Amino acid sequence: MELISKDALEAKLMLCMDMNRADWSYNKMIMANKMLEILDQEPIIEERKHGYWIEHPEHPIGDCCICGERVPIYSGSKKYKICPYCGAIMDGDSK
Ligand SMILES: [Zn+2]
Repeated sequence: MELISKDALEAKLMLCMDMNRADWSYNKMIMANKMLEILDQEPIIEERKHGYWIEHPEHPIGDCCICGERVPIYSGSKKYKICPYCGAIMDGDSK
């Protein structure tokens, strides 16, 4: 099984519906519309969790709020956006 991003596919299909685009055609629009309809009816197999790093100010490490794993969360000055253990997207609020 190959997993794809539903959001990315929807965005591409929405572009097919845009009549201002040079490559627009009626058939393409109808096909995209039907595909969007089908996509909406598909079951969600796995929904990515959203979390945040519980940071430790004295060290460049953090604990994932979802799975609890302790991770070196910085690569250079950038903070990791995904937990390498559970795959959670780390864009949540760390209150
Ligand atoms: Zn995690």
